[in-house]
Amino acid sequence: MNRVSVFVMQGDFHAKQLIYSILVTTWILQRVLRTAPGVPMICKKAHRHDPFFEPLPEDQSDPARHRCAGCAYEAGYNQGKRGERRIFSPENLPFSQAGYVRHRAAEEAFELGYSAGEQERLQKESV
Ligand SMILES: [Zn+2]
Repeated sequence: MNRVSVFVMQGDFHAKQLIYSILVTTWILQRVLRTAPGVPMICKKAHRHDPFFEPLPEDQSDPARHRCAGCAYEAGYNQGKRGERRIFSPENLPFSQAGYVRHRAAEEAFELGYSAGEQERLQKESV
């Protein structure tokens, strides 16, 4: 074996090691925080600063602890508007500790959103 192929093999090993550790870290984070794959970890949307969410009760209980109430509202709204069955799945929501959504009850936000979406759908259907 010449030097070049040893070097390439070592380089290959490091790349594999790196990819492997990234995968393991991601897996652990997702297990610990129970966030579904493909869902961003932290919400960066503008609704974090929407005072609309201020009157929501505070809730820091699991499983929706620290989930973004704004994203929960949007998820509920979309389900209601499409006439889907209401399924609140906190693992599909990013986390947020910012602005007005900080510590707000994500499940209540979801219910609010669902009702708003449903109402909009029914109004459209009745026209
Ligand atoms: Zn959000």
